Amino acid sequence: MTHTPTSPSKAAPAIVWFRYDLRLGDHPALMAAIETGQPVLCVYIYDTVAARPLGGASQWWLHHSLSALQHDLKSVGANLHVMSGDPTIVLPSLVQEIGAQYVSWNRRYDLDGIAKDTDIKTLLADEGVDVHSFKGNLLREPWEMKTGSGNWYKVFTPYWKACLRSDPPLPPHEAPKTIQAYKGKLTIQAIDRLELLPQTPDWSSGFDTRWTPGSAGADSKLMRFLNTSVEDYANQRNNPSVYGTSRLSPHLAFGEISPREIWHKTTQSGRSADVFLSEVGWREFSYVLLYYNPKLASKNYKPDFDKFQWADNADTVTAWQKGMTGYPLVDAGMRELWATGWQHNRVRMVTASFLIKHLLQNWTQGERWFWDTLVDADPASNAASWQWTAGSGADASPYFRIFNPFTQGQKFDSEGDYVRRWVPELKDMPKKYIHTPWEAPAHVLAQAGVTLGVDYPKPIVEHKAARARALAAYKASREPHDLQQAVEDMGVR
Ligand code: FAD
Repeated sequence: MTHTPTSPSKAAPAIVWFRYDLRLGDHPALMAAIETGQPVLCVYIYDTVAARPLGGASQWWLHHSLSALQHDLKSVGANLHVMSGDPTIVLPSLVQEIGAQYVSWNRRYDLDGIAKDTDIKTLLADEGVDVHSFKGNLLREPWEMKTGSGNWYKVFTPYWKACLRSDPPLPPHEAPKTIQAYKGKLTIQAIDRLELLPQTPDWSSGFDTRWTPGSAGADSKLMRFLNTSVEDYANQRNNPSVYGTSRLSPHLAFGEISPREIWHKTTQSGRSADVFLSEVGWREFSYVLLYYNPKLASKNYKPDFDKFQWADNADTVTAWQKGMTGYPLVDAGMRELWATGWQHNRVRMVTASFLIKHLLQNWTQGERWFWDTLVDADPASNAASWQWTAGSGADASPYFRIFNPFTQGQKFDSEGDYVRRWVPELKDMPKKYIHTPWEAPAHVLAQAGVTLGVDYPKPIVEHKAARARALAAYKASREPHDLQQAVEDMGVR
């Protein structure tokens, strides 16, 4: 590329490249561009050559989030210039076209993102363009916290303790009141042209009623949470039938609110919020894991798991995806996910464990399904959480801890309200059998209008046998010489 600015450098525009930071408040890259005193051009590039394209639910979110950002930018005198293509080509061409002398962005941490950013930075810097990247989406950069021996933390608790001992995050920046925007002529691409919304079929009606993508939606979620649920969070966060958690995850995934803002508003609320903040800490820790293990979504952190003999049964995966396993809590969770793009954390642990252990499917299959269906699909948190559940991760739940899908239901959805909401076939089942309909006497099933195997499936695997099979497969993976025999004996295939 030959850089031939079309205007004198005094008026040369500064470009802010928005990515996973679709907000105006606490946006270091935007603030830095404004501080140059140059006219600012705000750009979003939809990456058509992403190593991992966004899933369908995330695309739905992105469409609305970009619209909200466009609206917010207009209210301060600016505009969002939406583009698509390969950012390593599109951004440098834009820089050349408008003669920009300054480009800024907030960092991302996935392998493909880092590689592209590095390439673009080198290319632009070679052309004499001032390029700056900032910490905008995390409280601490993944490389900031080190153990006494200089390593990255592999276990959450000491990591989080060290974070809490270190300086607190700086206060967030206010959103700019006005932006002196670049006014040069550019062909504007409408957000619609990105074709991010589902068409045939349009499965998003349940999303529309639950979510308000954009910073205003994020702020109101945070305020609602701080005003109503935060103090009860430690008690209620495991109960999927109540609105007991913040539901900020998609807003955080798209950067419509910064973790610093959450941190400061929460600590300033004067309410006790340690448990909640430590969950935000899990998000930070997941980014440490991703940064140091760039293939976190596809490669077992513990290589022992490479020897694991997973079953290969597409039918059981389909039943799991559709919420037709015959285990009410699992089915409720998978249907909530499909209908709303979100699933309660406790239920995520149960549904993920069920796929991996009861159905003996490789965790990467579940990670991919969640990637496609979650509005909060996050390259770090999703991969780290699936590895946590599988037992293959750095700080993971041991494989042999197998969640029992009905005792989890009895404990955390004790009235059965969550199941009744998402599995309406069981809405008239009494509490006693709501999580174990297969144990209900015939007259109870008849009274509830349920014929198992007709209205609602019988369990696709029997819990005790599935548990034994999972443990045997695990054991066999530790003793490679009799691995194959053990798996065959347990009828895994
Ligand atoms: P809150 O309980 O209010 O927590 C506040 C914030 O902390 C969340 O918004 C989220 O950003 C962060 N957080 C909370 N729990 C975790 C956690 N265990 N790990 C990392 N961050 C956490 N979270 C995602 O954001 N994206 C994902 O793709 C994702 N995939 C998951 C897959 C599995 C199998 C499991 C078990 C968990 C996954 N999580 C993921 C973590 C967690 O389930 C969600 O962050 C949480 O349910 C979001 O709801 P909330 O915003 O109400 O959370």
